[in-house]
Amino acid sequence: MKNYLKIAVQKSGRLSEDSLNLFKECGIKVEMGKGRLRTVSSNFPAEFLFLRDDDIPGYVEDGVADLGIVGENVLVESAKQVEVVKTLGFSKCRLSIAVPKETSFSLPEDLHGKRIATSYPRILSEYLQKNHIHAHIHEISGSVEIAPSIGLADAICDIVSSGSTLLSNGLKELDSIFRSEAVMVAHSGLAEEKKAILERLLFRISSVQTAKDHKYVLLNAPNEKLDEITGILSGMKSPTVMPLAIPGWSSVHSVLKENDFWEKIESLKEAGAQGILVIPIEKMVV
Ligand code: ATP
Ligand code: MG
Repeated sequence: MKNYLKIAVQKSGRLSEDSLNLFKECGIKVEMGKGRLRTVSSNFPAEFLFLRDDDIPGYVEDGVADLGIVGENVLVESAKQVEVVKTLGFSKCRLSIAVPKETSFSLPEDLHGKRIATSYPRILSEYLQKNHIHAHIHEISGSVEIAPSIGLADAICDIVSSGSTLLSNGLKELDSIFRSEAVMVAHSGLAEEKKAILERLLFRISSVQTAKDHKYVLLNAPNEKLDEITGILSGMKSPTVMPLAIPGWSSVHSVLKENDFWEKIESLKEAGAQGILVIPIEKMVV
């Protein structure tokens, strides 16, 4: 069986659920048996491998896996040569430098000569070089946030999402040095057959992502307000207008973008639209 993709996803952790959900939304079945480390999809030419996230960039570089989902933080730190084929918008976090709350440090330059504990020595050293800061990097593999309180370091560089872990460890954020989200990476020398399957997968992912950014809107409008209302809805393709059973009224259907959605709904109400219904879109093929 040559014509299928081997896809590496995190076995259990902050990427796992959203990664599996993405395949589900793309209509790809991934049956996970308890404790199983690989499974073949029953309705798409793909085999899934469940791994530690740190191992994914290396497996994809070597071609052991054709594709993988990993955080940009882990990918950049790994320095592996793979192709980023899609940004996925989940597992968003940042790498930040933090110091104990009571220290007087406030600028990155205050880190001169200090010890910084991190699991991201490569990303941190690039940042230090760029900012001409000479500091000592102390590489540790986990529980980085306790390093200052046990006297191991003066500062840390670690993943932050809400900042609550920092606070509960008596730390404050000094500078954010790297923004990350989950990405799909591919082996750079994929065979043509595998590339074709990848294209099918990317097409499905785009349809799911576009759908999430849009809403389907239905409303009733008095006919004399139709020009104004369809004007507000323009920008997308022309809305559908159909007569209602009540004379003088029409039903208008259109698709709105999530980011200016509320402003448009307010304008539509002001213009006389009634009975506005908003419906999520499952897939959007553009
Ligand atoms: P593994 O056992 O697979 O090595 P891990 O403990 O190294 O897992 P997780 O904590 O599951 O990793 O995080 C996986 C990725 O999720 C991180 O590399 C990062 O990209 C992202 N991430 C980490 N923390 C958060 C967070 N608080 N919010 C959102 N995304 C996060
Ligand atoms: Mg890991």
